Amino acid sequence: MIKIEALSAFSDNYIWLLQDAQHKRVAVIDPGDAAPVQAWLRKHGDWTLSDILITHHHNDHVGGVEQLRHDTGARVYGPATEKIPGRDQALVDGDRIDVLGLALQVFEVPGHTLGHIAFYQPDQHWLFCGDTLFAAGCGRLFEGTPLQMHQSLQRLAALPDDTLIYCAHEYTLSNLRFAKAVEPGNADIARRFEQVEAWRRGGQISLPSSLKLERATNPFLRAAETSVKEMIASREGRTLASEGEVFAALRAWKDRF
Ligand code: ZN
Ligand code: FE
Repeated sequence: MIKIEALSAFSDNYIWLLQDAQHKRVAVIDPGDAAPVQAWLRKHGDWTLSDILITHHHNDHVGGVEQLRHDTGARVYGPATEKIPGRDQALVDGDRIDVLGLALQVFEVPGHTLGHIAFYQPDQHWLFCGDTLFAAGCGRLFEGTPLQMHQSLQRLAALPDDTLIYCAHEYTLSNLRFAKAVEPGNADIARRFEQVEAWRRGGQISLPSSLKLERATNPFLRAAETSVKEMIASREGRTLASEGEVFAALRAWKDRF
C-alpha cells in the first residue's frame, strides 16, 4: 500500500511524496526545493528517499534534486530530451519504471515544455502530470504550440474517469475563476468554485482532482463543447474551424485573464 502526501513548496508548488510504509522508503515528484523533503525525512528518521521523479526542467520542479540526491543517493528519473540535474535514467514515451514496487508508465506530453513527461500508475489510476493538466486549467505554453498541448491533454483525458490528477501547483481557484468566465452557465463549475473556495479558506489543498471532474469543469478539456465554442466565437467575432483553434483561443485568453 502506497500513501501519497503533498509537501508544499514555494508559494503554490506541491511536491508529491509517495510512501511505502512496509519498506520505510519514499519517492518524490518534482522537488523544486530540497527543504520540505529534508524536513519530512528528519521527522521520519528511519525512512529513506529512494527515488526522485521529474516531469520537466523548470527550476520550481528540479531545484532540490542535486541536494537530495547528494544527501540520500536517490535515483533520479527525468525526461530524456531536457536538461535535468543529476538524472540517472532518461525516460521516453512508453517507458515503464518500477518505483517503490509500483509500475509507472511514462507519457510524453509536450506543450508547457517540449520534453515534459507525465507518470501514470495503471492499477491505482494515479496521474502525476506536473505542469501539463492542472485542476480546472493547463500549463502555460513556454515552449510548445497550442496544438501540441491540446494533443497532450487529449491523451491524458482518454484515461479512466476515476484517474486521480496529481498536478504540481495549487492554481485551482484562479483557474475556476477563468472557467466561470468561459462557461457562466455551467453548474458544475459554479459548484466546484464554491467547494474549492471553502477548502482554500480553510487552508486545505484542492488536489488531487479526478478526470471525471476535469472533463466537466476544465475549459481546456472542453473545447468541443457548444457552450465553449460559442463563447470563443462571440469573443473572436467569428466561428473557429477546429477544436484545436478553440483550444488555442482559450489558452491565449487565459494568458491575459
Ligand atoms: Zn513548469
Ligand atoms: Fe511549475
